[in-house]
Amino acid sequence: MSRLIQTLAILLALLATPGLANPAIADPAPQSPLILISIDGFRADYLDRAISPALSALAAGGVHATRMTPSFPSVTFPNHTTLVTGLVPDHHGIVNNAFIDPAMPGPFSMASKEERWWGESTPIWITAERAGLHTGVMFWPGVSVAHGGVRPGLFHDYDHAIAPDDRVDTVLGWFDLPADQRPRLALVYFEQVDTAGHNFGPDSPQVDAAIRTIDTAVARLIAGLKARSIHANVIVVADHGMAAVGPDNLVLLDDVVDLTAAHVVFDGTVIGFDPAPTPAGKAARRALLTRAPHMHCWDKHAIPADLDYGTNPRVPAVVCQVQTGWLAMTRAEYARSQARHPGLEKGAHGYDIHDPAMGALFIANGPAFRRGLTLPPFPNVDVYPLMATVLGITPHSGDGHLSDVAAALDTTVHDR
Ligand SMILES: [Zn+2]
Repeated sequence: MSRLIQTLAILLALLATPGLANPAIADPAPQSPLILISIDGFRADYLDRAISPALSALAAGGVHATRMTPSFPSVTFPNHTTLVTGLVPDHHGIVNNAFIDPAMPGPFSMASKEERWWGESTPIWITAERAGLHTGVMFWPGVSVAHGGVRPGLFHDYDHAIAPDDRVDTVLGWFDLPADQRPRLALVYFEQVDTAGHNFGPDSPQVDAAIRTIDTAVARLIAGLKARSIHANVIVVADHGMAAVGPDNLVLLDDVVDLTAAHVVFDGTVIGFDPAPTPAGKAARRALLTRAPHMHCWDKHAIPADLDYGTNPRVPAVVCQVQTGWLAMTRAEYARSQARHPGLEKGAHGYDIHDPAMGALFIANGPAFRRGLTLPPFPNVDVYPLMATVLGITPHSGDGHLSDVAAALDTTVHDR
């Protein structure tokens, strides 16, 4: 065979392979797009406040969970990465909002965009792009990170100044593109409910106001899809819940251990220490493991198995879970926080993943899903295989189990 004929034969074989997109051939039955909405810090029981009619309608007409269990630690970047990779933080490598990697210059922060930090896992938008599906991401941790040169076809880096309705309008605008450019997978993120929870506490009128604002944005998205005759599958999630913090519930870590002998890698509600390999460091480790107040500390290799944490080199040597409603900080970090805002924050997360106060929102609605079903609590690693199934793409192996959430799928409907 000549080289040309060989090439043509390969091309024809590729075109005949199911799952490979061929823009030259019109899709006989356009498939529903999947839209993943994250409302940061939307505790599952906020839905019961009956102040979010759009979310309640999605839940009533679809599937929702009594709550979804976050992965450890119950903070934002690790859990957003879990939702889109199906891996627990120990396995996807974003082990906290800030951390260090002993093999790399650092530290990692929420502004870090280099592939070296994010490359231990592959988000679903990359897998979808590689499978030939268009994707659009309106904010998500790691959104602009290239994985082997691949990025979402449409995306925006996080900008808190862009109002919720404008984020929605950007996503809707993607569905006004020519048919062969519209996203099959779109993601959109809102931080306002979390911010109000931290600043004013989960039971504050400010949280209720933020819930109403985001519900209005969700209603705008649903109405915009309807106006375009788009029958989308919509999944609404949160990354974690929110717990009230007592006004005096502060542990100053300097009072617990000699911080010159045990470096604090991260603090707040989950504490990471790297004790020095010295007698003073060993004494600091012993003090943490035996008598740290309002927290429970473990050597990284002895963290309870259900937390799935501690094998990644990025996890510090000693990890402490702070008691719900408390904060633990270095004196220096506390001073910095006082310069920004006097007093402790009124709400926090990062607490025990099994505490219902950390339980996250989960709603799924659309042609792929059953109607009127309530699921018992399930871990958020399951969202990824559910999304891959709805999109019809092959998921990479992960920590989630489709079987946990398969009841959500409407198996009688083929046009997903
Ligand atoms: Zn968050």
